[in-house]
Amino acid sequence: MADGSINAPAANGQAYPVTDHTYDVIVVGAGGAGLRAVVGCSQAGLRTACITKVFPTRSHTVAAQGGIAASLGNMSEDDWRFHMYDTVKGSDWLGDQDAIEYLVRSAPAAVYELEHWGVPFSRTEDGRIYQRPFGGMTTNYGKGIALRTCAAADRTGHAMLHTLYGAALKHTAEFFIEYFAIDLIMDEDGRCRGVVALKMDDGTIHRFRAQRTILATGGYGRAYFSATSAHTCTGDGNAMVLRAGLPLQDMEFVQFHPTGIYGAGCLITEGARGEGGYLTNSEGERFMERYAPSVKDLAPRDMVSRAMTMEIREGRGVGKNKDHIFLHLDHLDPKILHERLPGISESARIFAGVDVTKEPIPVLPTVHYNMGGIPTNYHGEVLTKKGNDPDVVVPGLMALGEAACVSVHGANRLGSNSLIDLVVFGRAAGLRCAETVTAGEKQPELPKGSADLALARLDRLRHAQGGTPTAELRLAMQRVMQEDCAVYRTGETLEQGQKRIHAVWKGSDDVRVTDRSLIWNTDLIETMEFDNLIAQAVVTMDGAVNRTESRGAHAREDFPQRDDKEWMKHTLAWADVKAKAVTIDYRPVHTYTMSNDVQYIEPKARVY
Ligand SMILES: Cc1cc2nc3c(=O)[nH]c(=O)nc-3n(C[C@H](O)[C@H](O)[C@H](O)COP(=O)(O)OP(=O)(O)OC[C@H]3O[C@@H](n4cnc5c(N)ncnc54)[C@H](O)[C@@H]3O)c2cc1C
Repeated sequence: MADGSINAPAANGQAYPVTDHTYDVIVVGAGGAGLRAVVGCSQAGLRTACITKVFPTRSHTVAAQGGIAASLGNMSEDDWRFHMYDTVKGSDWLGDQDAIEYLVRSAPAAVYELEHWGVPFSRTEDGRIYQRPFGGMTTNYGKGIALRTCAAADRTGHAMLHTLYGAALKHTAEFFIEYFAIDLIMDEDGRCRGVVALKMDDGTIHRFRAQRTILATGGYGRAYFSATSAHTCTGDGNAMVLRAGLPLQDMEFVQFHPTGIYGAGCLITEGARGEGGYLTNSEGERFMERYAPSVKDLAPRDMVSRAMTMEIREGRGVGKNKDHIFLHLDHLDPKILHERLPGISESARIFAGVDVTKEPIPVLPTVHYNMGGIPTNYHGEVLTKKGNDPDVVVPGLMALGEAACVSVHGANRLGSNSLIDLVVFGRAAGLRCAETVTAGEKQPELPKGSADLALARLDRLRHAQGGTPTAELRLAMQRVMQEDCAVYRTGETLEQGQKRIHAVWKGSDDVRVTDRSLIWNTDLIETMEFDNLIAQAVVTMDGAVNRTESRGAHAREDFPQRDDKEWMKHTLAWADVKAKAVTIDYRPVHTYTMSNDVQYIEPKARVY
């Protein structure tokens, strides 16, 4: 597909050979969201390419354990309206209700599609897809517990990602594997025209021109010291959007999963509590009964994480330092553990030295998911705010999956609602492209200097001769985020965090890279990833300082109440990476539904 080669001048005068490619659609990312979009666009007859920095089946989606939510009603009574109510309530009324309606209504068909493509779901006795309870998932508007989370044992993401890659390979899409996307190509009219990427094994530069560029680059958990996400989860797409002068949305909402293995940070799925596991403190008490009397250990993640933190603070943590909590599975039938939770049984053995049939697992709330990201509508089209119009579509640019903020998860995502988000909105993006893109349409020439932004950045970092190695800067960033932007926040810690994180941002100009080569230069790649992370860490912290209320995962001790009058709105944050300054503005939450089949769900107190 190469159109030829040119030499692009870069910052310090060095020339980089550039290969040009033209497609109808470029998808950056081969996780669940990216692959589902690849299938949809290919099915629509569009020339589609997928760029990914890791081999597709190594994307973080592969690590998803517990399952994917859809109101199939196989094992309990269920209805998409119940799923909608739970998702709105879980989001603490920050989710956009039109998008949430779209998600939950499309969910059952999306799961059956995965089933037909070959996902090996666990089964009920009579052969239907097995479904387990998950936090915050209820029936009859909070009255009963829903069995809604479809699972392939505790390796649902693994099964899904491999199936989706197989489905994508059936089509004509081309894969550019181990290509690192550096920056977007934007033209003078603010249209996205493609992306510039580095081929990691030989150092060549590739310029991809497309009618639509879809970012499906995942979350940025690695801005924190302890995260369940892979080291590759550095939010590269989010950072590209910031550098393109566009805003990110609701970045202050970072989900802590209650049960990361103490010390190692690896995840023990919420499915463990779904199968009957429970938490205890140093007094052996099942303390969740006090915090969420009706659903107990199956409360949403923000609430369980806060309860655990409270128990530890009040001196009831377990272990030598009383700094963690126990998760019990030892009362469950070993046969069930073997059948439904084999993966986490193994993780507990390897990373905590625990035999789950006999002893509890030491756990601690660990960074897990980013509710915030690139603002989009439910078609996956990226939005920005211009003047008083908060919903201006950025032409040519789309975003999906954890990188996007649709927003269906609002201030707190419910477990198993991400995997369904990937496939529902991945499909929606494919449909939108089918509708709005003409296959093979001739594309205008790229603007002059279209690769300059990307090459200047690459070149600057490759030759960076400062005094601080990347690893040192990264550690400083991760520690600030972990210490000052955690489960509980106060004005004091946040302001201190703001000073510290801005200092790291400024300090990043002093970065030192030692390897100057272009062949498998992990030093350079990690530096570009750090450079991406720090901009996101800064807008996360600044958004958290700014939001003077408590909502979902953003829990402020100095403002313990949710304040719908002032704060039922999305944060938009722009970062000027040169001046190192952040600007904040807002978008209204969509307080309307998509159809008349369901009514807007009015805000009320969030108790379980
Ligand atoms: C341990 C764990 C367990 C989870 N379990 C569940 C669960 O049971 N249920 C649930 O609903 N959710 C779960 N989640 C959340 C969910 O798995 C993720 O939110 C989701 O998989 C993200 O998918 P994605 O397609 O957006 O991105 P990812 O799967 O993270 O993929 C990102 C893709 O982008 C590519 N990429 C990134 N940057 C670049 C770049 N610069 N250049 C080129 N390519 C790039 C990567 O190569 C990769 O292919 C879990 C998350 C974790 C961490």
